[in-house]
Amino acid sequence: MSNARQAAIAAITSYKSTEKPINYKETPASSIFGSNVFGDAEMKKRLPKSIYKTVAKTINGGGKLDASVADVVAGAMRDWAIDKGATHYAHVFFPLTGLTAEKHDSFLDPQPDGTVLAGFSGKVLIQGEPDASSFPSGGIRATFEARGYTAWDVTSPAYILENPNGTTLCIPTAFVSWTGEALDKKTPVLRSMQALTKQASRIVKLFGKEDPGYIYSTAGPEQEYFLIDRNFYFARPDLNICGRSLFGAKPPKGQEFEDQYFGAIPERVLACMLEVEHELFKLGVPVKTRHNEVAPSQYEIAPVYENANVAADHQQLVMITLKRVAEKYGMACLLHEKPFAGINGSGKHLNWSLGGANVGNLLDPGETPHENMQFLVFCAAAIRAVHRYSKLLRASIAHAANDHRLGANEAPPAIVSIFLGDMLTDIFESIEKGKLKGAKKAGHLTVGVDSLPPLPKDYGDRNRTSPFAFTGNRFEFRAVGSSQSISGPLVVLNTIVAESLDFIATELEKATKGDPKKLNDAVQKVIQDIYKEHKAVVFNGDGYSEAWHKEAAKRGLPNLRNSVDALEQLIAKENIALLEKYNVLSPRETKSRYEIYLERYCKDVATEGKLCLNMAKTMILPAAYRYQGELASTAASIKAATGSADTSALAEVTALVAKLEKSITPLSHAIGHEASGSVLDHAKHYRDEVLPATLEVRALADALEAVVADDLWPLPTYREMLFIR
Ligand code: ADP
Ligand code: MG
Repeated sequence: MSNARQAAIAAITSYKSTEKPINYKETPASSIFGSNVFGDAEMKKRLPKSIYKTVAKTINGGGKLDASVADVVAGAMRDWAIDKGATHYAHVFFPLTGLTAEKHDSFLDPQPDGTVLAGFSGKVLIQGEPDASSFPSGGIRATFEARGYTAWDVTSPAYILENPNGTTLCIPTAFVSWTGEALDKKTPVLRSMQALTKQASRIVKLFGKEDPGYIYSTAGPEQEYFLIDRNFYFARPDLNICGRSLFGAKPPKGQEFEDQYFGAIPERVLACMLEVEHELFKLGVPVKTRHNEVAPSQYEIAPVYENANVAADHQQLVMITLKRVAEKYGMACLLHEKPFAGINGSGKHLNWSLGGANVGNLLDPGETPHENMQFLVFCAAAIRAVHRYSKLLRASIAHAANDHRLGANEAPPAIVSIFLGDMLTDIFESIEKGKLKGAKKAGHLTVGVDSLPPLPKDYGDRNRTSPFAFTGNRFEFRAVGSSQSISGPLVVLNTIVAESLDFIATELEKATKGDPKKLNDAVQKVIQDIYKEHKAVVFNGDGYSEAWHKEAAKRGLPNLRNSVDALEQLIAKENIALLEKYNVLSPRETKSRYEIYLERYCKDVATEGKLCLNMAKTMILPAAYRYQGELASTAASIKAATGSADTSALAEVTALVAKLEKSITPLSHAIGHEASGSVLDHAKHYRDEVLPATLEVRALADALEAVVADDLWPLPTYREMLFIR
């Protein structure tokens, strides 16, 4: 058997953790939570009262910080970090690669007398200049142009990154060009939150809330991932380079026994999870849930929801921590959307809502009819938004890896629809038919909703096949990919809902002209109109079914089957206009993203194609040739000894080898010939030529895996990777 496979199995069977055990009895989780975060508590302790108040106000949506305040904060932050053993600080930013980037600088300032002092001024805190010219900018910034700047995001707390040899103060930042154009994922999130706050405030004011306070979107991303032994990982160039297996025959056992989902967590995996959580607790990431997922060796981790901007930063930390800690336990964490064909892929269900300290969760039906009516307005806004901008929403989750998942039979379809559940659908349908009549009560603002049934808080009828489901007090965007930053989907959700809230607020303001008594009728009318126009997007049935695909087409819902079709929508006129109108992305910024994401698609598919070719030629065919040779000499000896020999096995292998050799030519040709023209043309070439050719090579290689002698097969098999742990 191949050395790598043998080594892996030996390593796993003799595995003993060398990690120092965590002892929560000695140090309870509550005492370590947030211990490495320069958060509210630490600021309160270390900052003069007036400064603390100013900073707290900014964090809660109350405007800008001036330089003098930043100076004081910087000093306090530095002292805190040095107390924690930090020698360096880093502006952490989120370039359009979707990954996290950081540049470290020492606190030490050399003095003329040869000594050093610890410096770190407000100026340095507020703004960094990482240069970082090699990140994708989609034409916004040529390398010869001025630099990129990082700008301190006061609303996301700084934290300490630990390493056995020292610690670093990490400061979340936005990354912009010298003209202020967004080069990153964070800037548009912050801008879209501003748009949302503004429009949501108008609505709650109409409902009589004079001081809505800061309203923001909330996010609770559930992260799915695989853990496999590192020995297998390194013996598979495809996993190592592309994050997914380009080869691998279906194992005799997959997930059909349904014995993995919520099953007992293997010891080594649990130890790893516990350490991941321990690390994240220190960073103030409120991770809460862990369990086995559906596919073998697949798991999930989910936090409690937070302010969406902070949640997005924390989500990046979750991904980094999973990868880092898995290594320590001899495993590799696979965040790819589809590491293994034939079993479930991984998603990142993005639970989304909006609310604030003064208004609560605005997607919570609430206790009183009044709250219910307001809730229905927000819900209607979401329905309208998702229907109007379903293509943009689809584009926000489009990348090569997610194509293997969306539309296949275990993930939500590529058709964007909303699951409301029977109860809520009933209510909207009644409103549409004008059956919910309002009644007025003296004294307070009643919106005539005594006739509304109390809304259920918890929905028993979960729908797992919907890409966008209402789940009692939030929406769950289930089509988001496991490896992607949640920022893109957040930006789109925030913006499209802001646009619908803007529309509704304008309608209501027009209809009521400041008279609260008119609100009731006005709200009913708006909801009625919206539901009539947009109910096509509501679908409570089985999203996987063939029937739905037909029905959706009849309803005129777009079905953007792959990333290229979806990304094309980014620069559709209405989407560019929307993002510009709400100051989320300028047309140039939107176009730059379109270019970057399509280029990325090309690179992803190209890399897979090249590696597929390489592995087929240097690993799979040689194994097959050896086996052919063995069979041939066996047949020759048998024939020599007995006069005749059965050569059907040899014939089978020979036929497959010939087909595999033949399939290599079109792949190699497709890789060698780029399309001419725009980035879109290139992407189409990769989608239509390279990808199918890659799949063809794989199909033949997998067929060979089923017949070639196991001890000659060079790659760890699905059975081994998924079940030996
Ligand atoms: P399930 O797997 O049943 O969908 P989980 O408990 O795994 O549920 O995840 C639900 C996620 O939804 C959690 O992260 C939770 O904090 C989040 N969530 C709950 N309420 C809200 C809200 N108002 N806004 C955003 N996310 C929310
Ligand atoms: Mg879950």
